[in-house]
Amino acid sequence: MKRERVVIIGSGPAGFAAALYTARAQLNPVMIAGNTLGGQVSLTHEIENYPGFPEPISGHELVERFREQVERFGTRLVYDVVTSVDFSKGSPFTVNTTDQTYLADAVIVTIGANPRKLGVPGEDEYTGRGVSYCGTCDGFFFRGKDIVVVGGGDSAVEEAIFLTKFANSVNIIHRRESLRAGVALQARAKHNPKISYTWNSVIDRINGRPDGTVTSVIIRDVVSGTITEKPTDGVFIFIGHDPNSPVFGGQLATDDSGYVITDQLYRTNIDGVFAAGEIQDHIWRQVGTSVGQGTSAGMSAILWLQEREEELQDLNADPTPQVGD
Ligand code: NAP
Repeated sequence: MKRERVVIIGSGPAGFAAALYTARAQLNPVMIAGNTLGGQVSLTHEIENYPGFPEPISGHELVERFREQVERFGTRLVYDVVTSVDFSKGSPFTVNTTDQTYLADAVIVTIGANPRKLGVPGEDEYTGRGVSYCGTCDGFFFRGKDIVVVGGGDSAVEEAIFLTKFANSVNIIHRRESLRAGVALQARAKHNPKISYTWNSVIDRINGRPDGTVTSVIIRDVVSGTITEKPTDGVFIFIGHDPNSPVFGGQLATDDSGYVITDQLYRTNIDGVFAAGEIQDHIWRQVGTSVGQGTSAGMSAILWLQEREEELQDLNADPTPQVGD
């Protein structure tokens, strides 16, 4: 078990930013990348709102550039998954992965969030064939098909617009009669002839064939209670995210939804553990904001390690006089 100066958990934009700063500060960070390098952004078709890229860039390419940049400064990427941590004894902290145990002077948590599920019959059964949480990944398979999108936020509307590149029609099923999405996105969706809406409605069940393809959804009107069956080839679900905080076993303070609570310097309740990106930000969730938060968390970790080392040096150089000295 080797002792590391900094271990970064997660490889989204916040993690890469923290890696860049701590690597350039010669802390030789280890980044435990998880299952998908880049996290959710790597699944994003086009990013056109990240400064410095006048032309849209694919999430995959942006992540490759992040990776190249952090490795150039000495970040060590480990393609492994964190299974548990022990923050209870203070620094150095224990971080267990599937393959190894790390001892880390400082930890930066950038482990993000996962798409929320509807929790209805048929959802798990048809996931990967007819049910999807990622238009960029699966839209191509629905060329010329009729599909439904669930949700009324920015993600649902943005993905619905994207999916019209492939699908014949996209019906947005929303549990209320107005969208949560921003006005600009709403306007774009309104002018898209392939998009229609089913208001005040939820999906109670997803039906399909034994080969995994979806055939219909059972829709309940939450106002009238009317149940209808709507034929569809696919169900795309965008109803928010759940933060990946359970792996910390309650050792990090979170809000009621499980988002890690930090102060303005991205410090958690544990001295020496920092958190940034979508694990602590449920509001903005942009590449730009995650990069900013990861930068701040990285700089806070650098400062924290520096101050701690100075304190230790002072203690060694000038021991506190003892009674009787
Ligand atoms: P969100 O804003 O939380 O919206 C989730 C949507 O799903 C809401 O419309 C919600 O309905 C609905 N919903 C939640 N649980 C449901 C359930 N069990 N059954 C049916 N519907 C359910 O999530 P998001 O769209 O993923 O966006 C998250 C954040 O990222 C937001 O701050 C958003 O602005 C940001 N974002 C920005 C962009 C962009 O700027 N281009 C793109 C994507 C995301 P209610 O409306 O009734 O609550």
